[in-house]
Amino acid sequence: MVNMKPRLYLDIDGVLLANEENLAIGASEFIKYAVDNFEVYWLTTHCMDGTTAHAIEYVLRATDDDLRPYLEKFKPVTWGLAKTEAIDFNTPFLWFDDDCYSGERLALNEHNAFNSWIEIDLAKYPDQLVHELKLLQSLAE
Ligand SMILES: [Mg+2]
Repeated sequence: MVNMKPRLYLDIDGVLLANEENLAIGASEFIKYAVDNFEVYWLTTHCMDGTTAHAIEYVLRATDDDLRPYLEKFKPVTWGLAKTEAIDFNTPFLWFDDDCYSGERLALNEHNAFNSWIEIDLAKYPDQLVHELKLLQSLAE
């Protein structure tokens, strides 16, 4: 049986962080569970060139939780104009992001993968990551 667990691509602003000073509600648990059970990739403007140090520090600045060992397991990506450049469409994935621009929507649609984008809206649903953690738990079984 092929392992069909999706890769996870995670944005920072508006997803892991509610704002520059605060993690989103449930983000620590979400991050830990994601790393322990999935292959996790950064997909954020804070990691575009394949180096992850800035993204890690940026998240850690917003919390007292010791997330460093988990964040260091996130894999780097490189992209330029569209985040979809960094996505491997040959492998199942879920992309958690508060934004998806028109070019990115186009790329997702071209690969029949629009449903792999999980729209995060912390303004509307401040505890959305608590619920997305349940989604991860159902996929990891
Ligand atoms: Mg964002």
